[in-house]
Amino acid sequence: MYLVLMGLPGAGKGTQAERIVEKYGIPHISTGDMFRAAIKEETPLGLEAKSYMDAGNLVPDEVTIGIVRDRLSKKDCEKGFLLDGFPRTVAQAEALEEITQELSRKIDYVLNISVDSDKLMQRLTGRRICQTCGSTYHVIFNPPKVEGVCDKDGGTLIQRQDDNEETVRNRLDVNMKQAKPLLDFYGDKGYLKNINGDQDIDKVFQDIDQLIGGLAK
Ligand code: AMP
Repeated sequence: MYLVLMGLPGAGKGTQAERIVEKYGIPHISTGDMFRAAIKEETPLGLEAKSYMDAGNLVPDEVTIGIVRDRLSKKDCEKGFLLDGFPRTVAQAEALEEITQELSRKIDYVLNISVDSDKLMQRLTGRRICQTCGSTYHVIFNPPKVEGVCDKDGGTLIQRQDDNEETVRNRLDVNMKQAKPLLDFYGDKGYLKNINGDQDIDKVFQDIDQLIGGLAK
C-alpha cells in the first residue's frame, strides 16, 4: 500500500502514522525526520536543510525531491510506504507521480485527517508541559490531577511560547494555505480520502484501517 498522510498541526497525524506503520509493517517516511537526522549527523544535506528549517522555510524542492526519490527506491519500500510531510508543494506532488511511475507503483490513497480549525486551536493552545520532566497535558482533554502541577513529579506546568493563540493561529493559517493546492491536486486525481479526525484516537484509526485494510489483501 502506497500512502500519503496529511493533516494540520494538532490533527493527530503523528499518532495515526505510528499505528498505521505498526499494523501494516510499512516504512514511515517523514521528510522532517530525515532532515533532522541529517542535521544531527552533520551531513552536507543536513547543513543545507538546517539554514532553511531554522528560518521556518521549506527546504527547496530539488533537495527534498532528491532525498524522497532515493528513499522510495530502497528495497523496504517495495511493498508499501507511508509518506508524512511530503509532498508539501504541487511540484513535489508532481515529482512523486513521476517517481512512483518510474518504480511501477501508484499512490493508493492520500489520507487527510481533518479537524476544523477552532477545534485545532483548542487542542494546540490547551497544551501544557511540565517544566522539569517534559510530560505533556491538556487543560481539557488530559488535565493533571491538580491544576498547573505535574502528576509525575510535582513540577510546574507551563505553556510553550509557540502554543500561544496568535502563534498557533498563524501556524494553522500557513499550513492551510500550503495544503489547499495539494488537496485540490489529489482531489482531482481521485486519491483524496478525508478522515474525520474529530473523534477519539481509536475511532479515527478504525476508519483509516477500514479504508486501507483492503489494500493489504
Ligand atoms: P516537519 O517535521 O514535517 O514539520 O518538518 C520540519 C521542517 O522540515 C519543515 O518546516 C521544513 O523546513 C522541512 N521540511 C519537511 N518536509 C519538507 C518538504 N516536503 N518540503 C520542504 N521542506 C520540508
